[in-house]
Amino acid sequence: MDDTQRLQYLQAMGIDVWVPRETAVEQSTVAEQGAASFQGAPTEERAADVADPVLQQWRQLEQEVAGCQLCPLAETRTQTVFGTGNRNADWLLIGEAPGQSEDQQGKPFVGKAGFLLTEMLRALGLSREDVFIANILKCRPPDNRDPKAGEVAACHPYLQRQIALIRPKIILAVGRVAAQQLLKTDAPLGRLRGSVHYLDKIPVVVVYHPAYLLRSPLDKRKAWNDLQMAGRLYRELQD
Ligand code: URA
Repeated sequence: MDDTQRLQYLQAMGIDVWVPRETAVEQSTVAEQGAASFQGAPTEERAADVADPVLQQWRQLEQEVAGCQLCPLAETRTQTVFGTGNRNADWLLIGEAPGQSEDQQGKPFVGKAGFLLTEMLRALGLSREDVFIANILKCRPPDNRDPKAGEVAACHPYLQRQIALIRPKIILAVGRVAAQQLLKTDAPLGRLRGSVHYLDKIPVVVVYHPAYLLRSPLDKRKAWNDLQMAGRLYRELQD
């Protein structure tokens, strides 16, 4: 990567220059591009389903998630947040749970933190359309509290099915909660970041949650290092 590119990425991450932008909400339109709703699919699409069992499994999964009643969050959510992006992506990003904006819009990471997440992806040379973004929970916990064990247990099979369908080459666990739940540990994020973990042989890199970075911008430098490590790892996987 040349210096100009590096500077651009650092600026994009807000490391050298951090200018809060008022346009965060507009990012939702980026996320929308990756979201394909399968409900009410026209006849040709249903015919395609029969020919493509993977497509059929995606549709089935999406319908199950949309109607899920497995935990009490079904009572309080506006809607489920299935995940968006490229269903054949090499990169899978897994966050914690939908917040208020995500619950309203039905898409992951669409608020201010989502805008920074998009910038973090840009630092890796990726756009939101290149990756798939999902969460540990498909429904918003009230007042954005941490997910409860029963909620995670109920929701986990959906995420497992998404991982099995996407077959990513690398997973980014976004934030402490996602990292701890995915890696089944209660180690703090400071101990989990900086090394490669594995989930069923898929490498997992733990990165700071963008909402945390918005509160603690001094840690953006460490976040940049973590992203670079993930990028190097991914390139090594190609060799
Ligand atoms: N935080 C998350 O972890 N996930 C989202 O989708 C939004 C905010």
